[in-house]
Amino acid sequence: MSRFAYVNGAYVRHSDASVHIEDRGFQFGDSVYEVVYLYQGKLIDAEPHLDRMERSLDELQMDMPMSRKAMGLIMKELIKRNRLKTGLVYIQVTRGSATRDFPFPSACDQTMVMTTRRMPAFDPDKALKPLKVKSLPDIRWSRCDIKTTQLLAAALSKQTALDDGYDDAWLVDEAGFVTEGTSNNAWIVTKDGKLKTRKPSHEILNGITRQSIITLATEKGIEIIEEAFTLEEALEAKEAFVTSASACLKPVTQINEHTIGNGNVGIISEQIARIYANFLKG
Ligand code: PMP
Repeated sequence: MSRFAYVNGAYVRHSDASVHIEDRGFQFGDSVYEVVYLYQGKLIDAEPHLDRMERSLDELQMDMPMSRKAMGLIMKELIKRNRLKTGLVYIQVTRGSATRDFPFPSACDQTMVMTTRRMPAFDPDKALKPLKVKSLPDIRWSRCDIKTTQLLAAALSKQTALDDGYDDAWLVDEAGFVTEGTSNNAWIVTKDGKLKTRKPSHEILNGITRQSIITLATEKGIEIIEEAFTLEEALEAKEAFVTSASACLKPVTQINEHTIGNGNVGIISEQIARIYANFLKG
């Protein structure tokens, strides 16, 4: 089956989809993106994702390229054309194409691209494959709260982790505190059973999955501390996991050469995964 992409007003075959070589997304990474999880035909947290996209664009002095309603209709149409039941919808918005120059062009039309990717449905009985992560210095820029397509530092870090036999990297700031994973938020379970994850700041992307889990876990009476934790604290933690729209929740059972807890998927990680899976099921 042909896959379709949406590019600037047209649904085109994925293999033929392209943007201009002068596009500022390509030239400068002058662009933002969002990834929304489609679970059994339902877009999860679409509004908060679009809120975050609007905020990211605003931080780069750009507007939303169209109304929320129009964006929602395009997402639905692309999902339909690609016969997608469960997977990811990627939305990318760039400042547009203009002769290469650093200053923002006075007038140019934004580029908007949407693509989809098939994925298995999140199922805590099957999906909780533990991850081994490697700690690496966080070499990204100082506005990680903006979801830009400038992902080179994350890609380099992930590649280093994979080359060294790990599944992902946990990035560590200059003071020794974990910021986040290369494409997910980092969590630990403390010795007294509380969840700890770094509070939103310019140093991390405030994950939509992270925010949903905070709400859902708090409703269940699980205590959450939004506070940075050091790498040492993570090594000593009872459990650890990561969250994102694409992974939902994945346990972390090894950091560098240290086993976390007893090396198995922790009880609280599993509990949170089940709570999140129930939320997905609605
Ligand atoms: N941090 C980073 C750096 C990410 O790339 C992502 C995934 N886009 C996340 C956190 C998780 O965010 P979300 O839960 O909204 O997918």
